[in-house]
Amino acid sequence: MKLYNTLSGKKEEFAPHGDEVKIYVCGVTPYDDAHIGHAMSYVIFDVIRRYLKFRDFKVKYVQNVTDIDDKIIDRANQRDIPPAELAKKYTDSYFEDMDALNIEPADVYPKATGEIPKIIEVIQGLIDKGFAYPAGGSVYFRVRKDPDYGKLSHRSLDDMMSAECALGSGEKEDPMDFALWKASKPDEPFWESPWGEGRPGWHIECSAMSLKYLGEQIDIHGGGQDLIFPHHENEIAQSESFTGKKPFAKYWLHNGLLQFGEDKMSKSLGNLVTIKQILGEGEDEIKREYNADVLRIFILKSHYRSPLTYAEEGLEAARQDMERLMRVVAREDSGGGKGKALDAEPYSRRFIDSMDDDFNTARALAVLFDLARAIYQASNSGVGFKDAKEVFLSLAHKVLGLRLRHIIITPPPLRLKLTTYAPDVIIGANPTPELEERVSRLVKERVKCREEKNWQRADEIRNKLAELGVDLEDTPQETQRIWRRTPSIESLDSFLKKLGITL
Ligand SMILES: [Zn+2]
Repeated sequence: MKLYNTLSGKKEEFAPHGDEVKIYVCGVTPYDDAHIGHAMSYVIFDVIRRYLKFRDFKVKYVQNVTDIDDKIIDRANQRDIPPAELAKKYTDSYFEDMDALNIEPADVYPKATGEIPKIIEVIQGLIDKGFAYPAGGSVYFRVRKDPDYGKLSHRSLDDMMSAECALGSGEKEDPMDFALWKASKPDEPFWESPWGEGRPGWHIECSAMSLKYLGEQIDIHGGGQDLIFPHHENEIAQSESFTGKKPFAKYWLHNGLLQFGEDKMSKSLGNLVTIKQILGEGEDEIKREYNADVLRIFILKSHYRSPLTYAEEGLEAARQDMERLMRVVAREDSGGGKGKALDAEPYSRRFIDSMDDDFNTARALAVLFDLARAIYQASNSGVGFKDAKEVFLSLAHKVLGLRLRHIIITPPPLRLKLTTYAPDVIIGANPTPELEERVSRLVKERVKCREEKNWQRADEIRNKLAELGVDLEDTPQETQRIWRRTPSIESLDSFLKKLGITL
């Protein structure tokens, strides 16, 4: 298995330190609802983790919550509520989103405010070793003391200087130095420390939590490309200076960023789409109602290191992809494995080859679509596909985290004498008994037309139902109904009336 390491700038063979792969992924700062840029990053690391488990690695996955930060304090002040209350609200909201997206929970979700003693211990250790110094109630990291500083972002100190100089604070020894501990300002939450009342800096939190829950050296550290500098560069400097062990993290994985047209998706540009809005749970008017599978497919169709451009057309295409996969889920192998059977082995090998190549989910997903097509053809031509479907489901569920869940209604309210019904596939629709009755009547009429070789009328029924959101699919044995949208009762009634059919 090869993965691209930001630290070396190339693909490397994956060789973890020990039996258990230790992964740390930077988590959220809960001051607002999570947006689809967050969804992108956490879906990607979820799939990486799932794939490692699929390949029989033991994995320990830690992701922090930065529940104290300037953004939280500012937003809480605007709303006139305590910062802790705001952080709690959006931490809960974040966990809801992760659950909705079928993201496996981390083994530990440490919160910065719950880890103050460990953070103070690491800061004190850095002071004792000469890597940090207190000044004016704050503590700063002495960047020039670390000869490796810049090794992740591949920048020289002089390059960084120009950017950082403007932010120089009078109490720092050097404008490059960054805060480990911040003296508290009036009306801000604070904790007691050897340097006075204050709160931790963002970078030190991740070093301390990673040390506490995963030990001195970890295998994979992940996050978005926007975290490479300064956040991850600073984490390396702190952790390696504190422990004296290098590398702090063996592999640094960074996902590309979500774009909105030409722009980055951001609150300040007003183009931010939250996960709740996409899933149709948002409180405002932009309701989109794509399910988690659609969003996961949309994300996984690109390589994780590439930027992903948000677009409705992209989500629509992903919805159609999902429907193709759902149709396979609904197919049952009625042949009992007699005679010829579809061999899924070449597909699963190609899938694994793709994922082994720096988690190329775009190619892996393409293989899954190929397998879906092969199963579909097998089911239409009487070739066995029971084992192939198991392989398909295992790759889709276990590795890509797709639920492909559908509701099956059996038996249908109206039994047909002329043909058997396949179970209904319901994708984002709500077939009430009234709708069910009308659609069943139309299906029954179509079966009759086909028997009478009235192909024109049979096609008319099929096309009209498709237009209203219900696809009919014929196999040699049965007709399956795929409810893609909820048709209106009025449109069905007027169509029945036009055909001269009474219920
Ligand atoms: Zn971090």
